Amino acid sequence: RKTMVVKIGSSTLVEDGELRRDFISALASQARDLCEAGWNLVVVSSGAIACGAPLLGFERRPADMPSLQACASVGQCVLSAAYDEEFRAVGLLTSLVLLTRGDTARRTSYLHARDALTRLVDLGVVPIVNENDTTAVDEIKFGDNDTLAALVSCLVSADLCVTLSDIDGLYTANPSLDPNAEFIPRVDKIDAAIIGSAGDSTTTVGTGGMITKIRSCRILMTAGIESVICSGAEELPLVRLANGEQVGTRFVPP
Ligand code: ADP
Repeated sequence: RKTMVVKIGSSTLVEDGELRRDFISALASQARDLCEAGWNLVVVSSGAIACGAPLLGFERRPADMPSLQACASVGQCVLSAAYDEEFRAVGLLTSLVLLTRGDTARRTSYLHARDALTRLVDLGVVPIVNENDTTAVDEIKFGDNDTLAALVSCLVSADLCVTLSDIDGLYTANPSLDPNAEFIPRVDKIDAAIIGSAGDSTTTVGTGGMITKIRSCRILMTAGIESVICSGAEELPLVRLANGEQVGTRFVPP
């Protein structure tokens, strides 16, 4: 069987402070189709803080660490419950895997994380992975789920890592700032021009922007794993990618 890692950004999952159940339900039905077509799936999901903040009465993402940790803790529960319900409705079990950077930086814990994820996937479970934002403070953070998705892809020896974003792929510049930005359908080498094109996030809930996505694609290229950045609003992107269709920007390792 092949393995696909899918990273979902906060801006795709949470809209006006509400978790998008329709998105998770569409993801679940794609997961079922992929499983039947011989793919294992691992989801790296953001959205815990964005989901928890309004429930705790914050109008926007709080600035202090303890409030962020509280939002993450509350939001993660709601998020995991939504994945559990929607995936179970199509006959799939999910599991929750919260990691910190230490879990992949030390050899023994790296191997434990790898063994646990591999076993879950072999059992037909769809692990939902996130950074443990309740206990991970700055010094011990991956920092963004783009980097986490790249490391998880290496852990499970993925065949493909798909980032579902609020944008349909990589452009020569941030298209919300530069009207002349052109779409790049395929990248074979991450050179200075590609890195220079990538800017920060201009959305309010996104965190990494394009630069962390490019860095994570570079890790994946080095590891020989193909990756794709495409829009979460695309029609059945995962199923189409599994069928070899061109969707979004492909980063093809040598
Ligand atoms: P997510 O929440 O999906 O991780 P982000 O908001 O963090 O999404 O990152 C995607 C955003 O990065 C885009 O919406 C866009 O504003 C910005 N961006 C910066 N540079 C580029 C570029 N060269 N091509 C595409 N998007 C870019």
